[in-house]
Amino acid sequence: MHSTGLSCSTSPYAIYGYAKAADNKNRLEIDEEAATVIRQIFELAISGKRANEIALILNAQNTLSRNSYKASKGDGRDWIRVSKIGTFWKDSDIRKIVLDKRYTGVAIGNFYERKGIGRNEYRLVPRENWIVVPNAHPAIITDKEYEEAQKMLIRLPRKKTPVKERFLFGKVRCCNCNHAMRRNRGKNASFVCATPISIYSPNCVQGEISESVIEETLLSAIQTQAKLFAKTEKSRLKQHKALVEKMNDIRKSIKRCEDTVQKLVVAKQDYYDNYKDEKITKDEFLLKRESCNKQIERMTASIAELAEMLKNYSDLADQNTELNSEWQNCIGINELNREIVDALVDSIIVYDSEHIEIIWKFADEYEVS
Ligand SMILES: [Zn+2]
Repeated sequence: MHSTGLSCSTSPYAIYGYAKAADNKNRLEIDEEAATVIRQIFELAISGKRANEIALILNAQNTLSRNSYKASKGDGRDWIRVSKIGTFWKDSDIRKIVLDKRYTGVAIGNFYERKGIGRNEYRLVPRENWIVVPNAHPAIITDKEYEEAQKMLIRLPRKKTPVKERFLFGKVRCCNCNHAMRRNRGKNASFVCATPISIYSPNCVQGEISESVIEETLLSAIQTQAKLFAKTEKSRLKQHKALVEKMNDIRKSIKRCEDTVQKLVVAKQDYYDNYKDEKITKDEFLLKRESCNKQIERMTASIAELAEMLKNYSDLADQNTELNSEWQNCIGINELNREIVDALVDSIIVYDSEHIEIIWKFADEYEVS
């Protein structure tokens, strides 16, 4: 592969700060509007500002976030998604830009790698493993500026929390900005909305919300729902049984009517035979036949009516099918686990430690009455 091709081979979009040359899609040109922002970010980092402080500055001066800027240039991404997650600068955006050596003019062949075969998630490749191609495109910042800015990224390594402890991960959201709240580790783990560290947002959840408070709320909500489910399921089964009994009664009635029709047909034949054998007169016969026909007509109408009723009850029985069995698994639980939380909970919206709303994955949740 030709070396200059590497810089844009991994993405259909030019990286923030660059645009594809009009005459050659493989050549990147500096996008001055975005490059000005990038230079400002590096200057601030070099001056000792931390990532969240830089985000606060950019947001205060109303600089378009990276995603909003790209969207405003019509880069083809989903606007709704962009407008939900990327309308302002976050500290993580700043760190990504400061880390990105491509702004010194190099191309990096393997900046990101897939997290696993077939998975559509990527992670940064450790910098000692980067394949760096120099002079791939014009530089926005110098090598020296890049190296100086890197000190901003030095953070103490953090211990990873075992996955089993993190079953609320990604589900706890701030009522105001709807971002997933960050989990602070420790003996008394808690969740905080990280938005206020990047942008003035007084309506976001303030302070720390204890994880145990959220877990207790969630557990008791699940227990309540499971109880309601059990109650609803019990009455559903009762209803179903009643429906089945009604349907059986109707079937019996239909059978009776059909038997009667059968008997009337036979009677008609007997009257005819009697008439032929001259046991009864023609007038008598006609009268009897007329009477039989009328009864058959009535019975046939009844059968049609009963069949219609049967169909209605059968439709009702079909609608009255088993409710969501996920709740069945929760009857009597005393402890949360990842499977249960994943199966039931879409998200947990936090207002403050006393007001937590749980959004279930199912529309057929049982209202607390
Ligand atoms: Zn928030």
